[in-house]
Amino acid sequence: MKKIAILGSTGSIGTQTLEVVRANKDIQVLGISAGHNVHKLEEQVREFRPKLAAVFDEKAARDLAERIRDTDTKVVSGMEGLLELSGMPETEILVTAIVGMLGIRPTMEAIRAGKDIALANKETLVTAGHLIMPMAEKYGVRILPVDSEHSAIFQALNGEHKEEIHKLLITASGGPFRGRKRAELEKVTLADTLKHPNWVMGQKITVDSATLVNKGLEVMEARWLFDMDLDYIQVVVQPQSVIHSMIEFKDGGIMAQLGTPDMRLPIQYALYYPHRRYLDGMRLDFAKLRQITFEEPDMETFLGLPMAIEASKAGGTMPTVFNAANELAVRKFLHEEIRFLDIYEIIGQSMGRHTKSESPDLDEILAVEQETYQWIESRW
Ligand code: NDP
Repeated sequence: MKKIAILGSTGSIGTQTLEVVRANKDIQVLGISAGHNVHKLEEQVREFRPKLAAVFDEKAARDLAERIRDTDTKVVSGMEGLLELSGMPETEILVTAIVGMLGIRPTMEAIRAGKDIALANKETLVTAGHLIMPMAEKYGVRILPVDSEHSAIFQALNGEHKEEIHKLLITASGGPFRGRKRAELEKVTLADTLKHPNWVMGQKITVDSATLVNKGLEVMEARWLFDMDLDYIQVVVQPQSVIHSMIEFKDGGIMAQLGTPDMRLPIQYALYYPHRRYLDGMRLDFAKLRQITFEEPDMETFLGLPMAIEASKAGGTMPTVFNAANELAVRKFLHEEIRFLDIYEIIGQSMGRHTKSESPDLDEILAVEQETYQWIESRW
């Protein structure tokens, strides 16, 4: 039996992780967690009978405890609760399917406790990659990528040597507004933004896909995961989302991983690595597909990508500012308080005013996050 805990079990990645568990009879879910969605957590408790359920919101935690009084599942709350779930003694893998920088501390806690990390929560590596990767090495734990692009690279690396990589080619669908120019983005609505052409995902990452911030976060994530210089990470727009990413090796050979857009594959690959299991669902049909096309990303219109590269090149606390500004801007956009293009404005201005410090520790990262939020709140 493989024993896992899931941080963010009620979200898009969390529920798909539970689908993988349901289809395979040899994974035991010992811990689940959410921000406040007690309705879904109750269902999950009744189906998977975990030992622990962590709810960030205190009131929601009390509500859940009441609802599941008849079960043996213990309910914990707040950040302390998330940390308890991350360090549960019996688990082998923590799936980090929580959204945002909130994932940093629980991820570190799990590493300290010797758990492998099935990492979906890219914001953790983006802001604290310089702390997380050496920690993982020190504690001998594996960071198994769940993001489809990074999983594709991880799969293409099988049997190869990391030192022989020349370049990473990260593919992008281009999002719902591919082909539009800045003037056409002035009036796009929240509903337009949430219509991703190929993937069904949580709201935050769907907005990030439309701004190309998500692709920027992925470039930053790849840098840490595969220890690559940013100059050797290239984004290629491939609108059909068939090629999930590629590696160009030193001899010019390219390895790609292809498949239908289905997050259960990278989730399952991370959970069973290095083995593969049967997975139901659509298969690629090349006769029907007929063509796969490629474009360059439009870096003049979709500023999320160039701003991410700039933040990553600056390093230190700048990626935290980029990420925190985006997190708050997206929250405001989801509440329809700002327009689509304001997201770029908020990130750009937040980065512009920040004086970075090199090699921040966790406390400094979290302080810069809060400071960035406060500055934005005072202006927007
Ligand atoms: P969702 O918004 O669908 O789910 C987020 C999860 O985090 C939910 O379980 C949510 O609980 C929980 N959560 C939110 N706030 C808190 C909090 N304060 N404390 C504890 N838990 C909280 O996100 P996704 O599944 O789409 O994304 C999760 C991560 O995976 C992100 O980092 C994203 O970038 C990454 N990712 C996602 C992909 C996808 O296909 N969805 C693909 C690749 C990466 P609640 O339900 O109560 O709000």
